[in-house]
Amino acid sequence: MRTPAPAQLLQVWERGSGPSAAACGLLLLGSSCDEHSGETLAALPLGRRDALLLQLRARLFGAEIGTVASCPQCAATVEATFRCDDLLLTSPGTDAAVFEHVSPTHGVHVRFRLPDSNDLLAVEQCGDVDEARQLLLERCVLATSDAAAGRDARGLAVSLQGEIAQAMAQADPQADLQLAFRCPDCGHDWQPQFDIARFLWQELHAWALRMLRDVDMLARAYHWSEDEILALSPRRRQAYLELCAP
Ligand SMILES: [Zn+2]
Repeated sequence: MRTPAPAQLLQVWERGSGPSAAACGLLLLGSSCDEHSGETLAALPLGRRDALLLQLRARLFGAEIGTVASCPQCAATVEATFRCDDLLLTSPGTDAAVFEHVSPTHGVHVRFRLPDSNDLLAVEQCGDVDEARQLLLERCVLATSDAAAGRDARGLAVSLQGEIAQAMAQADPQADLQLAFRCPDCGHDWQPQFDIARFLWQELHAWALRMLRDVDMLARAYHWSEDEILALSPRRRQAYLELCAP
């Protein structure tokens, strides 16, 4: 992994203007993981993708992450700080490509693979959550011993579908990160999900707007090109900004 230069990061931001968090995640990894092709990155299980995105986040914006949430009980604002390392699981699961779930209640064997970015991109087209869950199962279930359902995951009992979804989450815990919040006002505990792809993209968006504003200011003051301004070290850019600030 390498740290993309400011000019390249701006290009990534420019290309990812759509609403797809999965596509944004791939753009971010594509800019920094030269050792993998785009196809390989898209086929990484989401836990492995997220581990790479956490490493990239530490490179781009530092290891410390500060978040603000609203307490679901009393609406108080709760701030939390944690480190990228805290979110990187030490045993992020196996490298196995195929997993098996044996349902004790249904007596059925199901073979499945872990969801990847290609699956997320497909699922993002779905109209609602149920349809998305169905499509994900259809794509990731490889075989079942349920003769009635055959290979079609849609034919499986709803409770069995739930078991498979749970087995998938257990097989790829890095993809299913939950934070632990406690409200200082009312003591309520809750565990919101943390989506590093979405979070990092929002940070990149804010960074890009700041950077463009800085470029605008320096270009007006010194008549340098965008390339020249982006090539300045952050420290030198900051020093010039202070010099030309009104
Ligand atoms: Zn509260």
